[in-house]
Amino acid sequence: MTDYSLIGIYGGTFDPVHYGHLRVAEELVDTIAFDQFFFVPAGEPRLREAPIASKYHRTRMVALSIQNNPRFSLDKREIKRAGVSATVESLREYHAEYNGKAALCFIMGADTFLKIHHWHHWLEIFQLCHLVIVDRPDSMRMMDRRNFPPVIQDACASRWITCPTDLTSQFSGMIYIAETTLLDISATRIRNLIAADKSIRYLLPEAVSDYIKTHHLYSGENGFK
Ligand code: ATP
Repeated sequence: MTDYSLIGIYGGTFDPVHYGHLRVAEELVDTIAFDQFFFVPAGEPRLREAPIASKYHRTRMVALSIQNNPRFSLDKREIKRAGVSATVESLREYHAEYNGKAALCFIMGADTFLKIHHWHHWLEIFQLCHLVIVDRPDSMRMMDRRNFPPVIQDACASRWITCPTDLTSQFSGMIYIAETTLLDISATRIRNLIAADKSIRYLLPEAVSDYIKTHHLYSGENGFK
C-alpha cells in the first residue's frame, strides 16, 4: 500500500485572518502528519460578496500572522490569478504539481462544508483532495450528519474516516472531522467591532491588528482601538 505524504491547504478570504484560523491550523499540524501546510488567500471569491480589504492587504495580514511559524507557508497563487477564483482550479494545479505523489488535504470549517455543493465542480474536489473539516461554534455540529443537505449526504456517504493516518492510504476522496478548540471568532465579527469602534485585541495577532490600524482597514480614517 502506498503511503502518500500529506499536504495541508487552508483556503479562505482571511478578511482579516484571526486566531480562529490560526489555532485550528496549529492544532491540525499537531494531529495530522502534514509535510507542508499552506495558507491560500482567495483572490475574488466566486460564492460570496467581495472581500472588504484588497487581496494585497489580506495576503500581507496572513504573511504577518504566520511569519514566526516555520510549520506554515503562504501560497499566493489565488491572489495572482486574474478574475473570479474557484478552489477547484487551485486543487487541479496542486494535483498536477505533486503529480499524484502526495495527498492534498483541504481544510474547511463546518459552515463552509455545508455549502460545498454550491462550489464550482464540487464533485471533482473529491477526486483531487481529501477534506479535513473543523467544527465552528455557530455552525451545525458535524456529528449530526442526518441534518446535512441530502445531496451532501449522498456524495459523502462512503468517505468518512475517523483516523487521520488513513489519509495517507489514498490520494483523495476521504473526509476527516478533526476535533479542534471551538473558538467563536469570525472575520465578520472583527470587522463589525472595528466599525463600531470597539476593541479587537486578543481576537487576532497584534501584528495583524497593527497592520489594520496603520492601513485604516475596515474603519475609514478613525474608530480603531
Ligand atoms: P467571514 O466572517 O468574513 O465569513 P471567516 O471568519 O469565516 O470570515 P474565512 O476566511 O471565510 O473566515 O474562513 C476560511 C475558512 O476558515 C473557512 O473554511 C471557515 O469555515 C474557517 N474558519 C473561519 N473561522 C473559523 C473558526 N473560528 N473556527 C474554525 N474554522 C474557522
